[in-house]
Amino acid sequence: MALINCRECTKQVADSAPTCPHCGIRSPGGAAKLEVRRVKRLGGAIVPLVVMVDNEEMARLTSNKSFNMTVSPGTHRIECVFLQRPVASAAQEFDVPAGKTLVITVAMSRLTGKPQFSAEVA
Ligand SMILES: [Zn+2]
Repeated sequence: MALINCRECTKQVADSAPTCPHCGIRSPGGAAKLEVRRVKRLGGAIVPLVVMVDNEEMARLTSNKSFNMTVSPGTHRIECVFLQRPVASAAQEFDVPAGKTLVITVAMSRLTGKPQFSAEVA
């Protein structure tokens, strides 16, 4: 966790703080963005993958598709569910830094048959 300056009061806050502890403004480091990409691997490519963010459905992705949204900085739970095979779902929590875009790549694991995540800050 890094310290940043609040965009309103300029005091130091954690980059993952949803609100500034000094002045109370939301997203003190600026809005964070989340991008979820689904990459193609063998099989299952045309079956849409339901992407849930904090338990709400946000998108249905087929292979090589992506979507992005603005989120509050901090921890968000990403879950990917296959409607045809609900057992083949996976969830993970990610920390999205203020003012940055977290790109999450989802690929189907050939080993487990479940979605697999990798994330990088863009
Ligand atoms: Zn502040």
